[in-house]
Amino acid sequence: MSDHNWEAVIGLEVHAQLKTRTKTFCRCSTHFGDDPNSNVCPVCLGLPGALPVLNREAVTMAVKAALAFGATVQQQSIFARKNYFYPDLPKGYQISQYEKPFSTGGAVDARLEDGTIKQIRLIRVHLEEDAGKSLHTITEAGTAVDLNRCGTPLIEIVSEPDIRSATEAYAFLYRLRQTLLYLGVCDGNMEEGSLRCDANISVRKKGTKEFGTRTEVKNLNSVRGVERAINFEAERQISVLESGGQVDQETLLWDADRQVVRSMRSKEEANDYRYFPDPDLLPLVIESVWIDDILATLPELPEAREKRFVKQYGLPEYDANVLTATKEVADYFEETVKLARGTEPKKVSNWIMSEVLAVLGDKNIEITEFEVKPDRLAVLFELINKGTISGKIAKKVFDEMTRTEATAEEIVEKLGLVQISDEGSLKALVDKVIENNPKQVEEYKSGKEKVFGYFVGQVMRETSGKANPQIVNDLLRKALS
Ligand SMILES: [Zn+2]
Repeated sequence: MSDHNWEAVIGLEVHAQLKTRTKTFCRCSTHFGDDPNSNVCPVCLGLPGALPVLNREAVTMAVKAALAFGATVQQQSIFARKNYFYPDLPKGYQISQYEKPFSTGGAVDARLEDGTIKQIRLIRVHLEEDAGKSLHTITEAGTAVDLNRCGTPLIEIVSEPDIRSATEAYAFLYRLRQTLLYLGVCDGNMEEGSLRCDANISVRKKGTKEFGTRTEVKNLNSVRGVERAINFEAERQISVLESGGQVDQETLLWDADRQVVRSMRSKEEANDYRYFPDPDLLPLVIESVWIDDILATLPELPEAREKRFVKQYGLPEYDANVLTATKEVADYFEETVKLARGTEPKKVSNWIMSEVLAVLGDKNIEITEFEVKPDRLAVLFELINKGTISGKIAKKVFDEMTRTEATAEEIVEKLGLVQISDEGSLKALVDKVIENNPKQVEEYKSGKEKVFGYFVGQVMRETSGKANPQIVNDLLRKALS
């Protein structure tokens, strides 16, 4: 924020679509991208007389997420109807939770840019169903409605207004999304809308305790977009207040193309929704055995894994953070270390951070789609360890491995890349290089240490990079002393 007298007070509401195969209260498929209105039935269309039956898998996933954030899972909670009118909501109400959500408390440990952890508390996590989708641009005739998404399970995660800046909001959302991905309960795709975020934003003079009037900003469809929108809106509120105006409580839409917010409607109060317990659904009872079972299936979470990587493999925190960014990359690292016996974990880490991640970026693929699996990479490390190839040549071999199915050994053989470690032939080359470069020898002997690299380079050139660099170094030192 440009003005240091002000601080922002931000609370986030995140809707995460659960990766169940079927919807919350019926057996319709949740598959994304099917023909419009093909995955619907009387229950999710809200036809008279249809009765909802709760999907156990949705509850399991919701509880899993709540437990991962250290929340308290309530053994009994209530489904409520949230009443509002919208074309993509055929029932005229959404089944949600209001007074008694299934989960309260908990926190997200957001890692700030300087590496410190800020704990951002959660008010609640509740289970609800999604609405359909209004499509405003596919037909000239007007707005079309696709109800396939109606009834897809969501969890809504509501934070306390503990967030004080756009960067903290980014850190919160990053960690939250990362955790949901580790748990496998949400695909985290903000562009497709399976993870959505609304921000409640107000500003106040630093040092004051009471909250200013807040606005709600919607339509935030990327983690960076959340950061930008919050910055924009906080700045806007500050300039309104500084010029003597007042902030209106309203709902705003973030326009990512123009990077501005625009007014959507004045904010409705909770009582506009006329929440009441859904008479078609029994209270949701989550017995403690069920909670214990789910607790037992929780995977190691990002923060814990990062700490273990530092401890177990002796990696710098930076490496551990990069490698544990996704569960899949962390798995890839551990698998490679296990298979490439005797290889320093730090070497494996370097290789993944520089070579592997670069190729994934170039090809725009996930590590699970990467053709060089840990077993293939491990063989490459073995060849380096045995001295068959140098680290430099290994990059060439790796490059080839990303384009063929050949093993590292086959590539080394086919391209004739075996490292030259034979002292006799290297000595001859070293002597030749020294003989051909009397001027540089003179310089070196008069104290210009830098020229040493030039000699190494010459020998490497003679051998197309295949000379064992350690032996070349030793021989050169000896010959020049
Ligand atoms: Zn259905």
